[in-house]
Amino acid sequence: MMDVKKLLVLPGDGIGPEVMREVAHIVGWLRHHRGLNLEISEDLVGGASLAAHGVPIREEVIEKAKAADAVLFGSVGDPAWAHVDFDKRPEVAILKLRQELELFANLRPAKVFDALAEASTLKPEVVRGLDIMIVRETVGGIYFGEPRGIETLPDGSKRGVNTEVYTTSEIERVARVAFDMARARDNRVCSVEKCNVMESGLLWKQVVTELHAREYSDVQLSHMLADNCAMQLVRNPKQFDVIVTGNLFGDLLSDLASMLTGSLGMLPSATLGAVREDGGRHALYEPIHGSAPDIAGQGIANPLAQILSFAMLLRYSFDREEDAALIEQAVSNVLASGLRTADIMSDGMARVSTEMMGQSVLREMGKLAL
Ligand code: NAD
Repeated sequence: MMDVKKLLVLPGDGIGPEVMREVAHIVGWLRHHRGLNLEISEDLVGGASLAAHGVPIREEVIEKAKAADAVLFGSVGDPAWAHVDFDKRPEVAILKLRQELELFANLRPAKVFDALAEASTLKPEVVRGLDIMIVRETVGGIYFGEPRGIETLPDGSKRGVNTEVYTTSEIERVARVAFDMARARDNRVCSVEKCNVMESGLLWKQVVTELHAREYSDVQLSHMLADNCAMQLVRNPKQFDVIVTGNLFGDLLSDLASMLTGSLGMLPSATLGAVREDGGRHALYEPIHGSAPDIAGQGIANPLAQILSFAMLLRYSFDREEDAALIEQAVSNVLASGLRTADIMSDGMARVSTEMMGQSVLREMGKLAL
């Protein structure tokens, strides 16, 4: 029997609660059949919290997130609150959580299920079997560096400034996440920067190289310039295992990589904080899609990104690799059987609702676990 783990569930707005409902069934099944021992609490964030409490996230919810072993987040964003000040928008909830929990490493797997290889805009042979992980630094770099701002020059024209800054410790902590991740995968890390034109990139490369020699020489390390990496991700994405990079390049490259797989409704993500002295770490798991107000309430959203986010949570926060793999295999089998939600629908396949997709995954888990 595992220790009791604390899970905070924050479904949010729009399709968030719809897809989270399907995860709840999976949690129930794992509790019943696999001894998953969880203490779950659920709360409001985003527009739902604004409606009930007048703020996108309450202090008490942030405290609960800090006390939890992991947070499973849905999505926030509601057109009904589009008129409010920027700092009161529903989206502030997720930004605040990332900031308060110091979640510095964003993990985005880009995995192509065989049955969906045709859904990519790239040729099926380029993406079939693709399984890469992009680790992006999220609290440093040019989005936060000082000085920043727009100033007016003596001649009346303007000057916009942003500064790319990285310190040794910031680079080391995110590189550690990538090396640790690689050890549990194909043991290869590609570190990406632009050391040919940026000093911060030069330091990035040096620090990663030194950390590798000191602590991770068993992992295969390569380096690549960010512009080349963008090209290689389209030309031959399967050459990569884990890519680690800074905030700006990671933003671009992870969006590029996610589209190799074809659909937003399929893509999970994790954001991790530092390992604490007690061995735990803050971690938040969420699909990369938003609240999809255009389809909310219709029962047609794809729940797989949310379900796969929960699988990541089981793997990285609860050390339940077998349960994570069971969920992923069930998803793969359901897709292979031809069931599709509207967003991944193609000719000859059977269209199903959010609930039917969730139920099918559950049924498949039952069969696989026999
Ligand atoms: P979105 O991801 O919500 O939707 C983009 C398109 O993809 C829509 O057509 C939507 O119907 C479709 N889509 C998304 N997820 C789907 C799913 N699971 N199944 C089927 N189709 C799906 O992005 P958007 O429209 O730019 O943003 C809507 C709201 O979500 C905004 O308020 C935005 O700020 C917010 N948002 C929140 C997060 C988050 O909570 N982390 C992330 C992105 C956007």
